[in-house]
Amino acid sequence: MGKRIIVAGGAGFIGSHLCDTLVKEGHSVACIDNLITGDKKNIDHLMGSEKFDYIEADVSSSGLVEMIRGKYQHVDEIYDMASPASPVDYVMYPIETLMVGSFGAKNLLDLALGYGARILMASTSEVYGDPLEHPQKEEYWGNVNPVGVRSCYDESKRFMEAISSAYIRKHGLKVRIARIFNTYGPRMRLNDGRVVPNFMSQALNDKDITIYGDGLQTRSFCYVSDLVDGLMRLMASDVNTPVNLGNPDEKSMLDFANNIIKLLGSKSRIVHLELPPDDPQRRRPDITKAKNRLGWEPKVTFEQGMMRTAEYFKKSR
Ligand code: UDP
Repeated sequence: MGKRIIVAGGAGFIGSHLCDTLVKEGHSVACIDNLITGDKKNIDHLMGSEKFDYIEADVSSSGLVEMIRGKYQHVDEIYDMASPASPVDYVMYPIETLMVGSFGAKNLLDLALGYGARILMASTSEVYGDPLEHPQKEEYWGNVNPVGVRSCYDESKRFMEAISSAYIRKHGLKVRIARIFNTYGPRMRLNDGRVVPNFMSQALNDKDITIYGDGLQTRSFCYVSDLVDGLMRLMASDVNTPVNLGNPDEKSMLDFANNIIKLLGSKSRIVHLELPPDDPQRRRPDITKAKNRLGWEPKVTFEQGMMRTAEYFKKSR
């Protein structure tokens, strides 16, 4: 017998891959999304399935808990994947981003409490801000500008972690907190502004590759199937403190651009544009905790993941 599982943000990039895997494993999935950055195309193929419900709603809205309680008598697990996640998106929707990380998170925690369900909260490496420790371990408290352009995302996720910890302490709720590092793969929006879709579509069209700043800033990219595996292992575990999920394969944006050009045989040239404010200089997860507690580590190499992603971008051009 499968479980009844809610995926908030299930029409988004990571959320839709999670829905796929859960349905494939025989669970009944209820996807909630308001489509501000999600896309129905990502879940079209699941729409006919009796194992899949789609509910168009904003998880931050005041009637959410009653509406869902009226629909389902029993729920086993909730994944909170709902939020804009690209810097371009959350700067465009700063209030919505703050609301979904606070009101949305509280609504979903209340739902979990009412159902006696487990809940996994999608937090982020952005809680480390522009980190002064490298690589980032879960014990590091971070270096976040509370009023900068990224604060709508960083602080809403920090609030999400704080309220999750309060529900654990106050109610003994089974909460799991995933600190997700840069993730990529099919179903990222071509125009979401993040570096992978930008470089990928520029390279595929032989257009200039836009590096912000000198390109010496680093990121570590994890392929989406590895991430989904990590999320499901974390949900099944008994770890109620934050866990980093990401691929420690760290690259500068300059190396990343050159790799993409080579991998795709592109004629693109590199140009440098202004670095956005508060852009973190270095980022790499220490995944010792995920390895030890979840038996998890990423398996898909940069080349494999980028080629799979390129196939998707070629088709959706
Ligand atoms: N970046 C870039 N060119 C682009 C888009 C992004 O050089 O066209 C840089 C950006 O400044 C950052 C890194 O790539 O240093 C990753 O940016 P992204 O928006 O993907 O996510 P972030 O990790 O900053 O949240």
